[in-house]
Amino acid sequence: MIDLAIAFSGSVIDRADAVRSDPEKLAALTNWRARLLRLDGLAPQIAPDGGLDWGSLADADPAAELLFLGLSPDGRACFAGVDPKLVGVGNTAPPDPRLWQVMGLLSPPDLAVYGAAKALVDWHARHRFCGRCGHATGLAKGGWQRNCSNQACCAEHFPRVDPVTIMTVEHHGRLLLGRQPRFPPRRYSALAGFIEPGETVEEAVAREISEEAGLVVRDVRYVASQPWPFPSSLMIACHAFADHDDVTIDRTELDDARWFSRDEVIAAMRGDDSAAFVAPPPYAIAHHLMRWWLNP
Ligand SMILES: [Zn+2]
Repeated sequence: MIDLAIAFSGSVIDRADAVRSDPEKLAALTNWRARLLRLDGLAPQIAPDGGLDWGSLADADPAAELLFLGLSPDGRACFAGVDPKLVGVGNTAPPDPRLWQVMGLLSPPDLAVYGAAKALVDWHARHRFCGRCGHATGLAKGGWQRNCSNQACCAEHFPRVDPVTIMTVEHHGRLLLGRQPRFPPRRYSALAGFIEPGETVEEAVAREISEEAGLVVRDVRYVASQPWPFPSSLMIACHAFADHDDVTIDRTELDDARWFSRDEVIAAMRGDDSAAFVAPPPYAIAHHLMRWWLNP
């Protein structure tokens, strides 16, 4: 059971597809009541009450493209602007640890609103040209589409979501966890990798475990998912079983991978100083996956 809010899920904004698809309806809502999400580049700005900082459309940079995020529970249109300074730049880097301190101030619904806005703004900043013909693209459907400006092409482009599998592997009551080179000291977490064209989720899990740890797995099952806006992934958390425990580590991907007992995982999740490793933080889906394994 997943009993803790999954970071970046649970937005209270209605995506209002009927509005974004209708330019007249969208124009009617683009008024003095509409709200503009204040961003510092791609980072959230925090209001004095500790929530996301919202302004009015009068605050928007006239040169910024406006993206319609949806309708707030009180029926106001919510927008984010694509800062002209971000155009052609964007940010594909993993989140800066300092950014987590800011994001840690937000409530789960606010974090979800921010995550969707961040992924969308970032996509617009980095997708200015048609991938088919190379001509410039223009915003459509309130920001949930870009269309090629070349009349001979007219390709439609949609905000990308990149599926990633993240998985724990079990053998005789122990769990396989790994360390990536960029992890903080002593951190171990679930193995992960992008799904490739032509793969099911289950096949991607089996391939990643085979590549990174040299194990054959079976009985892959889905546990939970998480939108992860760095830059725009969907983390698909799974669990699988291995019939043997003879790990062969791919050192180009991992510093280490090893088996941990149930007691070792419990101690790490509790944050014990004497634990065998440091568990992933609660905002990571790997944390939820490990909690689920301890208490399914
Ligand atoms: Zn084109």
